Amino acid sequence: MLDNIITIDGPAGSGKSTVAKILARELNLKYIDTGAMYRAITLLALQNNIDCKDEESILKLTRNINLQLDSNSVDESKYTTVKIDGKDVTDEIRSREVGSAVSIVSKLPGVRRYLVGLQKKFIQGDNAVLEGRDTGSVVCPDAALKIYLTASLDERIKRRDLQIREKGQFLERNIIKKEIISRDRIDSSREDSPLVIPENGIIIDTSKLSIKGVVEKIKKLYFKKVNVKNET
Ligand code: C5P
Repeated sequence: MLDNIITIDGPAGSGKSTVAKILARELNLKYIDTGAMYRAITLLALQNNIDCKDEESILKLTRNINLQLDSNSVDESKYTTVKIDGKDVTDEIRSREVGSAVSIVSKLPGVRRYLVGLQKKFIQGDNAVLEGRDTGSVVCPDAALKIYLTASLDERIKRRDLQIREKGQFLERNIIKKEIISRDRIDSSREDSPLVIPENGIIIDTSKLSIKGVVEKIKKLYFKKVNVKNET
C-alpha cells in the first residue's frame, strides 16, 4: 500500500477538484489534476487541426511536447497551471471547445498509456492526491485511500452553471445537462480504463454535503487507513 497517495475519481461536477486541492493543501501532498493533462492534449489536437480520433497524429505531437503541471497548487479557487513547451495554457484548456472534445481524445488507448506513464512518473516516491477518472483503478491501484465522488445530475448541473456564471458567462441549463450527460456516457462506456468505482474504493455522494464536510470525511478515512497500517 502506498501510504501517501489518495486517489479521487468521479464524474464531472462531483466536486473532485475542489476537494482534492483542499486535501492536498491540508495534508501537505502534491495535487495532480490528470484531467488537465487530457485537456492539454485535446487543445494541442484542436490547435493543429487534427481529427480527435486520429490517434497516430495526436501521439506524434504529444511525444514531442513538454507538458508541465504545477502540482503545488494551494488555492482551490484556481486551476492547476498547465504549460505546453513553456506556454501557459491554463485558461485555454478550460474552453468549451476543449470540454466538448476531451472525452473523444481520452478514449484513445495510446494517449491514455502515454499520460498514465507520465502520471506515474509525477508521483514516483512522492506524496500526492491524484484526481481524475481512472486514478484509483489504473494509475495507482495501491493508493492508501481510493475515493469515488458522485452527486445527483441536478446538483452537478447546478455546480457547472455556477462555475460558468462565475466566469461571467452564460449557458442554458439544458445545454449544460446535455454536455454533462454526453461526457459521462463516453467516459463510463469507453473500452480502455472507463470511469469505474475502483476496487476497494469508497463512494461518497456529495449532493447534500458541504465541501468542508466531504474533506473532513476523507481526512478521517485517510488517517484511519494509515494508522491501521502503521499498527500492523
Ligand atoms: O476532470 P476534467 O473534467 O477536467 O476531465 C476532462 C476529461 O478528461 C474527462 O471528461 C475525461 O474524458 C478525461 N479524463 C480521463 N481520465 C482521467 C482524467 C480525465 O479520461 N484520469
